[in-house]
Amino acid sequence: MSTRVYDCLKAIGEKIIENRDFLTDLDREIGDADHGVNMARGFQSVIEKVSQDDSDIGASLKKAGMTLLSTVGGASGPLYGTAYMEAGKVLMGKETLTADDLKLALEAAIAGIQKRGKAEKGEKTMLDSLIPAYDVYCEKIGGGASIVDALDAACTAANEGIEFTKTIAATKGRASYLGDRSIGHQDPGATSLTLTLETIRDFLKG
Ligand code: ADP
Ligand code: MG
Repeated sequence: MSTRVYDCLKAIGEKIIENRDFLTDLDREIGDADHGVNMARGFQSVIEKVSQDDSDIGASLKKAGMTLLSTVGGASGPLYGTAYMEAGKVLMGKETLTADDLKLALEAAIAGIQKRGKAEKGEKTMLDSLIPAYDVYCEKIGGGASIVDALDAACTAANEGIEFTKTIAATKGRASYLGDRSIGHQDPGATSLTLTLETIRDFLKG
C-alpha cells in the first residue's frame, strides 16, 4: 500500500455503510440495534475527514481513529477508535505496508482493544474474530506467505470466529445482560471486524 491508504479507509467505510442494516439487525438480536447505524455514521465521517492527499499510513489511521472515537459512540466507538489509533502509532511515517508492518499493526490494535475493554477471547466480542485472524496471519507470514495469502487465511479464521460467537454466551458488553439468551446469535462487532479484514484483503489484492 503506497499512497492508497485513504482509498483503503474509504473502501472499509463503504463496506460498513453497505452493511449498516445487517449489522444493526444483528445488534437488535442481542443488543440495542445501533451497531450498524453507529459504525456507518463514524465511517461516513472518516471518509469526509481523513485527507485524501496524506500518504502517511500511520497519520491517516490515527486521524480515522480519532474520528471514530468522536462519532461512533457506544462500546464500539472507543474500541474501534483505539484500535485504529494504536495501529496508526506503529505505522507512523510509513507510506508502504510490509507483511511485518501489518502484523505489528494488528498486534497494537488488539492490545488497544484489550486495554480499553478488558475482554479476552471467548467473551463474544470483536476479539473472537480478530485474535484468531491475527494468530493465523502470523503463522502464515512466519511460513513465508505473501501478505494477501496470509490475510486470506486470516479472513477464514475471522469468519470461523463469527461462527464461534454463535455458540457462546456474551460475558462482556451489552449482550452480556442477556446471559445464555445471547447463545445462537452472532456477535455484531465480530462481524464488522471481519468485514474490515476482508475489505483490507480485497483492497491489497486489487
Ligand atoms: P453498544 O453495545 O454500546 O451498543 P455497539 O452496538 O456499537 O455498542 O457495539 C457492540 C459490539 O461491541 C459487540 O458486538 C462487541 O463485539 C463489541 N464489544 C462490546 N464490549 C466489548 C469489550 N469489552 N471488548 C471488545 N469488544 C466489545
Ligand atoms: Mg449496540
